[in-house]
This record gives sequence, C-alpha cells and structure tokens, in this order.
Amino acid sequence: MAFKATILTLYPDMFPGPLGQSLSGRALDKGLWQLETSQIRDFATDKHRSVDDTPAGGGAGMVLRADILAKAIDAAAPADDPRPRLLMSPRGLPFTQKRAHELAEGPGAIIVCGRFEGIDQRVIDARNLEEVSIGDYILSGGEIGAITLLDAIIRLIPGVMGNMESADTESFETGLLEHPHYTRPAEFEGLTIPEVLTSGNHKKIHEWRMSESEKLTRDRRPDLWHAYMADEDDVD
Ligand code: SAH
Repeated sequence: MAFKATILTLYPDMFPGPLGQSLSGRALDKGLWQLETSQIRDFATDKHRSVDDTPAGGGAGMVLRADILAKAIDAAAPADDPRPRLLMSPRGLPFTQKRAHELAEGPGAIIVCGRFEGIDQRVIDARNLEEVSIGDYILSGGEIGAITLLDAIIRLIPGVMGNMESADTESFETGLLEHPHYTRPAEFEGLTIPEVLTSGNHKKIHEWRMSESEKLTRDRRPDLWHAYMADEDDVD
C-alpha cells in the first residue's frame, strides 16, 4: 500500500498545489503516494455551515469547534486506521529530517490544518493528535505547513528520488550542513572552482567536502555542531 496522506482543511483547493509539480507531482501520478482532502466545513451542522466560535474565557479571534472537527476526523480515519494523526501547530515538536524518515516508512498520515486562533483542546486530547511545528513563526493556517511536511516526506519514499545516494550527504542526514556545490563554467565573474574538486582525487575531494561541512555547521548552527560532537564522543 502506497503512502496515503489525508488532509483535513477549510481550503482543500490548496492541494496538491506545489505537491502536484516536479518530483512529488510525478510520484503522485505514478501512484507512489496518494492524496485525499476532506473539507472540514462539510461537517458543520448549522445552516451557515460555521465551524468556529468565540474562545471560552474571552479574547481575540475564533476557535475551531471540537465537535465538528472530531466528526471530520472520524469520517476520514476510523479508529483502526494505523496512520499517525498530526495537527499542524506552532506549539508542536519541531519537524525534523528524522521524523520525515519515520513518516516516509509508515502507511501515511492524517494531517489536520488549523485556522483562526487554533482548535479546541478537547479534540486534540480526545483524538490523540500529535502537534507538529514547522518552525518558530506563526503561519495563518496549517496548509502550507502540511505541504512542507509532505514535500520532505515524499522525496524519501522509495522510488521517488532517482538517485537515493544524493539524499545521504544532504544537510541534516549526517548531522552536518552540506558542503558547497560547483558546476560549469570553470570561471564565473573571475571566480574559479576550488582546485581539489577538479583534481580527480576522490579521497581528497571527500576530505575537502567533510571539512567544509564541519566549518559551515560550526559557524552557522552551533546547536547542530554540539549535537554532532556529542554523537562523535559517544562513538569513541
Ligand atoms: N494562536 C496560535 C496560532 C494560530 S495560527 C498560537 O499562538 O499558537 C493558525 C493555524 O496555523 C494553527 O492552528 C496551525 O494549524 C497553523 N500554524 C501556524 N504556525 C504554524 C507553525 N509554525 N507550524 C505548524 N503550523 C502552524
């Protein structure tokens, strides 16, 4: 069974969006993954089809109602559906390459996209939603977050990327940021390609790339660098 994503949203027309293009688009056409959307509004019960209400305790904005969202979740995924239930949320654990791998190896994901101030806490608790954040900033809705998540996952599904090797050295895969890349022309605005890369000496090339990776990571991402060094120490 191919990886299946079910998106619960108030804006189903946002999908597949960018996921319908390029690598993920071709994979979707080939059936390497499947996409289904569910319009949360279809589960509204009043004649205005409203899905939100004012926050208990007062304050700004509106909150997605628990009863309506729960019905949408139950219709999209019966209790025995093995797929993880994710809720896009700035309060969630930050999404990582490691989580992308775990999800790519699984049967798929049910992804709830919030809007307004967020969703009623009771549906998070009652339906066991795992909150996932794509970074420390606030988006206006979960849809772009869901697209980001899926883009990262889909390229890891076997058969989607032509050359799986290219994934191995990528930033975060090794715990380091990736080294710089160069291609033709040999000279660009007076700038040349580092000599070692045209030397044909594969050992030297590997060493150069590794040292560039380490330098970049140390300078730009002390957080990753410390984790990497701690890991190296564990191995010793
Ligand atoms: N009031 C909330 C933010 C609501 S933003 C708070 O302060 O935590 C509206 C919706 O956009 C959220 O319910 C969520 O689904 C989505 N969203 C916003 N920022 C996000 C982020 N960094 N990662 C994932 N989803 C996000």
